[in-house]
Amino acid sequence: MPELIYAPYAVSVSAHGRKISEPAPSGRSEFQRDRDRIIHSAAFRRLEYKTQVFVNHEGDLFRTRLTHSIEVAQIGRSIARRLRLNEDLVEAISLAHDLGHTPFGHAGQEALNECMKEYGGFEHNLQSLRVVDVLEERYAAFEGLNLCFETREGILKHCSKEHAQQLGEVGARFIKGLRPSLEAQLANLADEIAYNNHDVDDGLRSGLLTLEQLASVRLFAQHLDEVRAAYPGLAERRVIHETVRRMINALVTDLIQQTERNIRKFAPESVEDVRSTQSLAAFSPEMQELNSELKSFLRTKLYRHYQVMRMTAKASRIIKELFQAFLEDPRLLPPQFNMATGSKQARAVADYIAGMTDRYAIREHRRLFAVGDI
Ligand code: MG
Repeated sequence: MPELIYAPYAVSVSAHGRKISEPAPSGRSEFQRDRDRIIHSAAFRRLEYKTQVFVNHEGDLFRTRLTHSIEVAQIGRSIARRLRLNEDLVEAISLAHDLGHTPFGHAGQEALNECMKEYGGFEHNLQSLRVVDVLEERYAAFEGLNLCFETREGILKHCSKEHAQQLGEVGARFIKGLRPSLEAQLANLADEIAYNNHDVDDGLRSGLLTLEQLASVRLFAQHLDEVRAAYPGLAERRVIHETVRRMINALVTDLIQQTERNIRKFAPESVEDVRSTQSLAAFSPEMQELNSELKSFLRTKLYRHYQVMRMTAKASRIIKELFQAFLEDPRLLPPQFNMATGSKQARAVADYIAGMTDRYAIREHRRLFAVGDI
């Protein structure tokens, strides 16, 4: 195998290592090992039945968090290779970035956060870290997956200062105002490219969005016009795919070029330089504007579409009722989540609920509340 040549500002090795030190892996890098541990985790398999916009049973073709995470990893890896960054680290972060998400996407997260208000709140980034640090039970020698620091800092992405203080080394950058590695910055933007574009695609497939509406969004319209001019009479499904494909390509290319410009300007010579400089992975100002326009379109026209809102309202009710029922009577919980003491109990309930898939949460709610189901 030829030696991989990373850029000097890439994370070539894990400088900060693992919480519990382990012998170095043979035949694969530390970050390949992290990726493999993530893929074999229970939380990763659950991503198949969790969604962000459309509830899992609404249709077989909609993205799930699993396919979303794979798309993020694909986009992240191709950019990482072009920039000579550590692809394995980008892949590990991408595949793990949504592990802490509740069922029913953002509606679930908001509901759980409200339920947990008096007990320290609920942040999905923090929960993703908690999954890999504590909740996965797969190894005899340690709790969680014992991932490298660089993978964990990428997974954490954002967190409040208050929470950062309780996180030790991985929270320190939020207090000191430092950036994460370029690999982590990249995974974050790959996430954004992936979800904006697949939400357009899923929105059109569901019929909640129309091509006419999207023609008012400059980034989409630009590519749509090109496709229609080049392929007159092309069937609508293919017009949509071709347009979305070109949009992803334009965003990826712009991100690479602007990041390269930033790297030239700030000339980081090490990961430490990357951490103490402004964010280097970025879109150009023009693309940033087009991207924000697309995001605000999706927010108003898709995420707040009345049919999505109905699902959101129902999801929120399910989460809150489950939380209430379990907190009031912890005997209803599977024994490993029954701690029966104050705020620890609330956190255990949140862990249990956050780990549920959409369909499991619906079933669990039915088991607890549907009178005919005894
Ligand atoms: Mg995501």
